[in-house]
Amino acid sequence: MTSLHSNTAEDPGVYRTLLESTRAIPWRIDWASMQFTYIGPQIEALLGWKQASWRSVNDWAERIHEEDRQKTVDFCVAQSQQGIDHEADYRALSADGDDVWIRDVVHVVRREDGSVEALVGFMFDITARKQAEDKILQLQRELEVLSYRDSLTGVANRRMFDTLYPVEWAKARVTGEPLSLVVIDIDYFKQYNDHYGHVQGDECLRRVAQALDTGASRARDLCARFGGEEFILLLPATDEHAARNVAERCRKLLAQKELPHARSGVGRMVTVSIGIGTVVPGAHDDAYVFLDRVDRRLYQAKSAGRDRVCETEA
Ligand code: GH3
Ligand code: MG
Ligand code: MG
Repeated sequence: MTSLHSNTAEDPGVYRTLLESTRAIPWRIDWASMQFTYIGPQIEALLGWKQASWRSVNDWAERIHEEDRQKTVDFCVAQSQQGIDHEADYRALSADGDDVWIRDVVHVVRREDGSVEALVGFMFDITARKQAEDKILQLQRELEVLSYRDSLTGVANRRMFDTLYPVEWAKARVTGEPLSLVVIDIDYFKQYNDHYGHVQGDECLRRVAQALDTGASRARDLCARFGGEEFILLLPATDEHAARNVAERCRKLLAQKELPHARSGVGRMVTVSIGIGTVVPGAHDDAYVFLDRVDRRLYQAKSAGRDRVCETEA
């Protein structure tokens, strides 16, 4: 070890070889003149600009992506003036016009009296890391969307309904606008599965969901799969009359699909039973008590013969 140290100290060429063979790109800027006194030759392979073209800090600043330039320069100048070591991530522009993500790690060299003499640092190519980070962010966004979506039918899932319902309820309380719920259940769906099989059953669920999603067409309307073969429409700013229209439109859209159901007790096609309710929530009303009430209307529609809409308590 001892001999290695002394050999290295005697031969500055070793340092140079080390510096110029690493993937990090070393550089030095003289503080008084703001000129580069050194930059590693590797810079040309990374960015395409010749080693000799890096003369002043302006050359550095001009080769920073426009959107990152001001904030990077301001930050580095402020830190350097205060004599603080720092690092900055920014997009550098290559000679070909590509963006290259750089992490610049900067050390402030001071004289004995504390004044700044120079800045020395290393530039690291962090493009791959940034791309990976971007990919994760993108994936997170996709997952967020996916986890609020029912994977079978593509409409919103129960979780989405449970997230949005209290929000719309609270909003309706404030605005005094009526809020409507429409609960929908496929008739004799057990028999459908038994007769056609589960794969066809799944396809039937998709088509029904599609009809309902099209039926609830306003921007704030939500069509969610509530569970099994039951769906729910959350209709903000919708009164009884409008809610009934939405329910009838859904039934019509489903009828137009003409999905055969050989084992239905009410006809030859797939049908649904529907419960509807409208409320202007008051201070003492509870969102889930109201939902329960609408759900009971669905079962009234069932016991009254199915393939129908029920809007009132028996
Ligand atoms: P009703 O007219 O009274 O609503 O009778 P029903 O047969 O539709 O109701 P029931 O609750 O007896 O049966 C619901 C059926 O829905 C049973 C279940 O196998 C089926 N089901 C629930 N989820 C799915 C699913 O994801 N895919 C398929 N293929 N079937 C499902
Ligand atoms: Mg059913
Ligand atoms: Mg059911």
